[in-house]
Amino acid sequence: MEVPLILTQFLDRAVKLYGDKKAIINDERIFTYSELNDRVNQLSDGLRQLGVKKGDKVAYLAPNTVEMLEGFYGVFQLGAIMVPLNIRLKPEDYLFILNHSESKILFVDQDLYDLIIPIKDKLETVEKIIVHYHDGLCEEEDYDQFLSAYSKEPFEREDVEENDVCSLLYTSGTTGNPKGVMLTHRNNYLHALSSMHHLRVTDEDVLAHVLPMFHVNGWGSPFYYTANGATQVCLRKASAESIYDAIENHGVTVMHMAPTVLNSLIQYYDEHQPTVKQDIRLVIAGSAPPPAFITKIEEDLGWEFIQVYGMTESTPLTLVSRIRSHHKDLPLEEQYRLKAKQGVQMIGTDVKVVNAVGDEVAWDGREVGEIVVRGNGVMKGYWKNEDASMEALRDGWLHTGDMANVDEYGNIEIVDRKKDVIISGGENISSIEVEGVLYDHPSVLEAAVIAVPHEKWGETPHAYVVLRPGEEVTEEDLIQFSRSKLAHFKAITGVTFLEELPKTASGKILKVHLRNEHWKKAGKADKLV
Ligand code: ATP
Ligand code: MG
Repeated sequence: MEVPLILTQFLDRAVKLYGDKKAIINDERIFTYSELNDRVNQLSDGLRQLGVKKGDKVAYLAPNTVEMLEGFYGVFQLGAIMVPLNIRLKPEDYLFILNHSESKILFVDQDLYDLIIPIKDKLETVEKIIVHYHDGLCEEEDYDQFLSAYSKEPFEREDVEENDVCSLLYTSGTTGNPKGVMLTHRNNYLHALSSMHHLRVTDEDVLAHVLPMFHVNGWGSPFYYTANGATQVCLRKASAESIYDAIENHGVTVMHMAPTVLNSLIQYYDEHQPTVKQDIRLVIAGSAPPPAFITKIEEDLGWEFIQVYGMTESTPLTLVSRIRSHHKDLPLEEQYRLKAKQGVQMIGTDVKVVNAVGDEVAWDGREVGEIVVRGNGVMKGYWKNEDASMEALRDGWLHTGDMANVDEYGNIEIVDRKKDVIISGGENISSIEVEGVLYDHPSVLEAAVIAVPHEKWGETPHAYVVLRPGEEVTEEDLIQFSRSKLAHFKAITGVTFLEELPKTASGKILKVHLRNEHWKKAGKADKLV
């Protein structure tokens, strides 16, 4: 008999084998797997009493808390769909996503409730708001009281099929409006199996939830750590202090994070030289951390580092960097350089880099093409967006819009996003490469390079730059600096100095906003996004 691949099985296994073990540490609150299961049953029972049925959407606006984590399983027992919201958006963004997703219930952390007040009257489908509430008074229903009214008894689950959608995850919105990615139980289940293998997860692990669970990277990990009976530490804020605190007090062994947090841990280490016993066995990060970070983490802090690549549309992980020992015959510096590449396909995914006519690029580290993916994690499509779904899922492959090359070992390295490549006089220029050069200038704090219209060359690279405080550099200085380091056709042809760069809620630079301004002015609609 086959078992359908349903995510609630992961919790069942942990309760059966690790019932008395610490499942969640959330500040002062500690829950065993049995206690977590009780709360999950109460939540499912309560949601059913509120009329939530299979296929209904339940939205969450919360940082990393036990309430968020138990929501995963409580919602799934009903065959309902979880819609986690990015906590750094604006009220009007929540209005768009809550109405677009047709969410019926909204759970909100008390600290974020103010963001909902201005839009409460305009919510078209939300029938009830329940607040994860920790002190003071509140005008909405209190979550703890809500839970306590319902049964801890095993919940009579709805029939759920493995290809049923379990979550609507909105993308980061780096290249346009966020899109609602439909992921199924099967997507997440098989992604979890593959991830637990590549990241070598065991019941001895203590995971600190550093990445936000509302984002796909943070969202996927609870499944594979729960399935293995690991302990999960929920961190409300990912500050270096709170992370070192968790390492010291809870014996953290593994963390997933963004390069910005990696950077803050390195800074903190340099300033404080913390002497805590560090049993960290692995640190995992996506979004292209610079090689210098990787070397520092491994050599100075002594933690093993793995880079991963993926996107919301693929659950997300599809590539994983090879561990250093794979290349142990190469000089150390070269081993780190290879680790800075995004890596090779994970089990359960098939990843190719293809050129304009659909052929795989040569494994020579030079030819550039688009990454296409097929595999167990690839989404069902975008919710209520047929056109975008057809555009992304073509010929049986997910088209990522990320441009990359492949080296002689098969390691894939991202060069740029397709929409960010600058085409000047027929030559492709990677905005990331040019930005990398500008970051080498001692006065530059942040840089974003985009294509601007040019009469002769079609497009040329233009830089938006934020200078370090107190620094004075002219446009001409930076143009000359880039010419001294790059082939001349790649050098920037202009600079705009800004106080800060526009960014998405997850901290990615919104180059599309910068670019649109120039192309609108030039009256060239085809370049607009
Ligand atoms: P939107 O699709 O709404 O424009 P987004 O693409 O930023 O937003 P996500 O799904 O959160 O939304 O991010 C996925 C993207 O992040 C990838 O397509 C890729 O461009 C980038 N990315 C992820 N991991 C890495 C990595 N290891 N190195 C370089 N880039 C990465
Ligand atoms: Mg994207």
